[in-house]
Amino acid sequence: MNIKSPEDLKGLVRDVPDFPKKGIIFKDITPILKDPGALAFAVDELADFLAEVHPDPIVGIESRGFILSPILAYKLRAGFVPVRKKGKLPAETIRVSYDLEYGSNELEIHQDAIFKGMKVAVVDDLLATGGTAEAAIRLVEKLGGEVVAVAFLVELAFLKGREKLTDYNVFSLIRY
Ligand code: AMP
Repeated sequence: MNIKSPEDLKGLVRDVPDFPKKGIIFKDITPILKDPGALAFAVDELADFLAEVHPDPIVGIESRGFILSPILAYKLRAGFVPVRKKGKLPAETIRVSYDLEYGSNELEIHQDAIFKGMKVAVVDDLLATGGTAEAAIRLVEKLGGEVVAVAFLVELAFLKGREKLTDYNVFSLIRY
């Protein structure tokens, strides 16, 4: 498709009601990913934002954050570092837990993935309440990294996730 604006891109996001559980409207970005023009537009816009702060590495959050982050890292000639759910990373990790609507979740990063003073960008597919991004930021900062940017393809602004990220340089391409 000929995608010229974030609004065009928004038209490709698919709402899937009651996934993964009742009451959630899941924002499915796979129609963007499979369209060459849309994927290129999304990556180029996110890369333009990130390029200004020269991040290295790009930290991507499991699981859909893993789709765009390595593409962005390649484009910016930065490295890619995964933040994963508990128990998935093989070497020594540090861990943070954060609250979900019901219960809690834990994220990990390899202990040697970030050095003190590194300028890091955190990337995920979607910002909802902000708990996930905030947890990833805490991991980076525990290792001494400086979070210079936080970028999302989609932001559910009505959930006010940005209010958890007021100290950071936050960007999103598509907003609801
Ligand atoms: P949060 O911690 O509330 O900001 O949730 C963000 C994380 O949950 C991201 O990794 C998203 O992939 C996922 N997520 C939350 N809500 C949705 C939604 N409505 N559609 C798609 N992904 C979502």
